Amino acid sequence: MDYGTSLADIEKARENIAGTVVRTPTVPSLSLTRQAGIPVSLKLEHTQVTGSFKLRGAANALATLSEDARAKGVVAVSTGNHGRAVAHAAKVAGVKAVICLSELVPANKVEAIRALGAEVHITGRSQDEAEKEALRLEQEGMTFISPFDHKDVIAGQGTLGLEMLEDMPEVENVVVPLSGGGLLSGIALAIKARRPDVRLVGVTMSRGAAMYESLKAGLPVEVEEVESLADSLGGGIGLENRYTFAIVRNLVERCLLVEEDELAEAVRHAYREEQQVLEGGAAAGIAALLSGRLKPNGPTVLVLSGRNLDMDQHCRLVCGDSSAAKEAFHA
Ligand SMILES: *Cc1c(COP(=O)(O)O)cnc(C)c1O
Repeated sequence: MDYGTSLADIEKARENIAGTVVRTPTVPSLSLTRQAGIPVSLKLEHTQVTGSFKLRGAANALATLSEDARAKGVVAVSTGNHGRAVAHAAKVAGVKAVICLSELVPANKVEAIRALGAEVHITGRSQDEAEKEALRLEQEGMTFISPFDHKDVIAGQGTLGLEMLEDMPEVENVVVPLSGGGLLSGIALAIKARRPDVRLVGVTMSRGAAMYESLKAGLPVEVEEVESLADSLGGGIGLENRYTFAIVRNLVERCLLVEEDELAEAVRHAYREEQQVLEGGAAAGIAALLSGRLKPNGPTVLVLSGRNLDMDQHCRLVCGDSSAAKEAFHA
């Protein structure tokens, strides 16, 4: 089946982005191995440059631009991490970038993007409204880089899959935070091409789970966007979804939901037991494991996808007991 992106595209992406991204480690988690009773490792992708995996896809998309497109610049719409990644990748490539955001995006993420030298346009109360502004700029000649539904972005995210297989060849389950599905699609294409027996699991928050609801409906559907600790997992998959819906539907064994308090507990666990600072969405795999919603029975890698959250919010989450942490988040 042709999904638009091949293993060769992912291997090429790896060469394209080598100078811009770091190769992140996959390390055994002693605390989660003990709790789950199977070997659990963590792919520390939150330690990526710009604080999330999004730089891989963005850097690959920038690397494949024509001279004419480079001259006109790129535009992106993003809950934060993709915008940050495109801004940084564009700066490294010497290309102008405009990032379109909704009013729901946390202030720390907006500032981080401005600091990277990109122009920021803030419009509307949802990702979809911010997208309209981006499409307007695309009409004016800029190149639109989708955060997930884009061949070069999917190939870039797939490079994570190659690294995990090299570092943990005995892996049987790979657990990935899921929103638009670019990350999960890239990883699925890379891993299934080499190891079709590895099981892939996508995890998302129950509040506004667009891909989950679309899989259930059998076609891309819209969901209401609501505030969540996992703000980087918000947004739709696009009613005109070209790639990620088909890839996730055909290559991924299971998608499951986690609750807000489970995400909060997972962020706390990552900090207290693993000394890792994670944003809510990045802790989705840990939440699935700790809550018992996922019970894998072989070696498992959890992808930790990002660390960009407000550090005062993180402080409230990780201090005190979990009920206090929950109140702190909802306050
Ligand atoms: C974007 C993002 C995701 C989800 O990636 P998709 O490709 O949209 O599924 C997960 N975690 C973090 C930290 C992100 O920024």
